[in-house]
Amino acid sequence: MEQNKLTLIHSEHPLSDLKGVGPKSIGYLNELGIYSIEDILLKLPYAYDDETAMDIHSVSDGEKVTLIGEVYTPPSIAHFGRKKSKISFHMMVNEVAVRVEFFNQLYIKQHIEIGALVKITGKFNLKKQILSGTKFQKVSVDLDVNQPIFQPKYSLKGLIKNATYKKMVHDALNKAIVHPLLPVELKEKYKLWDLDQCLAILHQPTNNVDLKQARRSFAFIELFLFQLKMRLLHKKEHGVQIRSKINYNIDEVKQFIKTLPFELTDAQKQVVNEIFRDMHSDMRMNRLLQGDVGSGKTVVAAICMYALKTCGLQSALMVPTEILAEQHATSLSELFGDRANIALLTSSVKGKKRALILEQLVQGEIDILVGTHALISDPIVFKDLRLVITDEQHRFGVNQRKLLREKGPDSNVLFMTATPIPRTLAISVFGEMDVSMIKHMPKGRKPIITTWAKHQEIESIIQMAKVEISKGRQMYVICPLIEASEKLDVQNAVEIYEYYQQRFGNERVGLLHGKMKPIEKDAIMMQFANHELDILVSTTVVEVGVNVPNATLMAIYDADRFGLSTLHQLRGRVGRSEHQSYCVLISNPESETGIERMNIMTSTTDGFVLSEKDLEMRGPGDFFGVKQSGLPDFKVANIVEDYRMLEVARDEASSLILNGAIDLEENKILKQHILNDIVAYQTN
Ligand code: ADP
Ligand code: MG
Repeated sequence: MEQNKLTLIHSEHPLSDLKGVGPKSIGYLNELGIYSIEDILLKLPYAYDDETAMDIHSVSDGEKVTLIGEVYTPPSIAHFGRKKSKISFHMMVNEVAVRVEFFNQLYIKQHIEIGALVKITGKFNLKKQILSGTKFQKVSVDLDVNQPIFQPKYSLKGLIKNATYKKMVHDALNKAIVHPLLPVELKEKYKLWDLDQCLAILHQPTNNVDLKQARRSFAFIELFLFQLKMRLLHKKEHGVQIRSKINYNIDEVKQFIKTLPFELTDAQKQVVNEIFRDMHSDMRMNRLLQGDVGSGKTVVAAICMYALKTCGLQSALMVPTEILAEQHATSLSELFGDRANIALLTSSVKGKKRALILEQLVQGEIDILVGTHALISDPIVFKDLRLVITDEQHRFGVNQRKLLREKGPDSNVLFMTATPIPRTLAISVFGEMDVSMIKHMPKGRKPIITTWAKHQEIESIIQMAKVEISKGRQMYVICPLIEASEKLDVQNAVEIYEYYQQRFGNERVGLLHGKMKPIEKDAIMMQFANHELDILVSTTVVEVGVNVPNATLMAIYDADRFGLSTLHQLRGRVGRSEHQSYCVLISNPESETGIERMNIMTSTTDGFVLSEKDLEMRGPGDFFGVKQSGLPDFKVANIVEDYRMLEVARDEASSLILNGAIDLEENKILKQHILNDIVAYQTN
């Protein structure tokens, strides 16, 4: 069924109706992704040339300037060679005589009459009072008034001339209807322009003040539309009624908590309460649990899953890697003892064993299933799955989150992440969820001491390792890449492994890298966890979630090559016990960014501070895991720089939706626009 698409900008006219647009330019426009008048108007200038006339007394030597003056000498023309020419004349600018020169632009001769007002843009030689012109404009009264002094520049890949495109835009503005969009109250409250005015000014600004206001308003409109969608989605995802609320047996849960080898932190208790409240409601839970590495999310997950078991319901825990799945299965088995039946399902579980697990799941004999994210794509049938938890969920985009929710339409969903998402991103990237946070680490944790060493200082690291190992502790050595490449002078994991074997004995050093088979990886990991190895040399495969509390030292080779978030994740593998832990960043950074990273890493262990810095240094587009997050590409708004505006937009969008103050029925255009996007989100 063809839907009548209502858009914010509407025009009866096809592109070919625009002045000066023929079949050839249509081809070029299409190449630029432009198919309609709306597209033309939404292609905003990437910059503006300021052609505001300047005061000659305040210009400096060599500056690009625009001056308005009165011609007082006739033009003189010189030719050199066959093709080169120079036209020059004098003009009076504010009682200063300026000589104007243009090269190879003889056509302006006709406009130079004594007494005429002209506006020249060019480079000014202060000493000689010569203006080397690049742009000539005749000033007539009406032209001067209408002519924008900020000249928009469009990115046109050389297909269309900027001046030609400006004419198309001008005509497009006349031929389009831009629908009102912002509620009047918002416009008044925040002194905003609506879309029509923004577009007119963004394409044809006449002064800086207007331009700023147009950019500010346009950014708000983008963020507001985005937040309206997110809030509607939030409402929708939470409005899902589930079969029945979960009537867990609170006494049994409390009993279980008492058996834990430690007391829950206040932060853990609080999030457990938040989650239980969700689970006890008859709306589906859709919650994100953020907690820095080592803050103790696993036990929170365990308590929730145990709660389901107390009323005969099933849970699934999904993690990104097989190693992690195994670790979780093992540590959960330890926590539960024989209180619950746990099964591990990864790609290496095959044949009869797999068949048995699948059968037990259908029968409800398994309470908790642990596996990798492959669980989502596999057709696995549960007897009664009511809670799905994913760990380290930052690798999980908005669409995968949706898939997961669909997997258990009756299930509560809890996403856990150890990558602190900067608050600036959280409301954008996870806008459709509720967020819980474990804000504090378990008591008695000593902050990891981080130092920065140069490659030539390796001996001091070996000494540290000897001290830690003699105390019965263990060490991780992290190398950037497994295979030496001639081009990159990254350390070769095998070489490093052999080096540590030489120094510490072949038997006590293990190697772990991504090219190994899962079984091999697991075997090594197990050896390390069982303290059969003192040192584990590894690529970043240990980055996520692995827990060996006895490891207290980590050395990271070429640390400057990793992003802050990755470094933080890696560092989080140590500092997981009451023993003092250390992290040594080994690097001789060549770039400023590398040096800055080292300085930041040695100065803080706060994951949120680091994530904010990482975001600052890399920008939202490159931020770890954000690429697939479903964050839109904004034209003007920047979710980091315009964070406050984003918050305002979110609050306003929320309250409009909650109070029913935004009448989507009345504002059909807006409704269609937002719903279209939600439909798009749902289908891709
Ligand atoms: P993460 O949030 O990174 O997944 P884990 O759940 O792996 O953290 O917990 C890290 C370590 O802290 C584990 O060894 C765990 O047993 C321990 N732990 C968790 N909660 C507490 C607590 N309240 N007190 C002391 N240790 C705790
Ligand atoms: Mg974890």
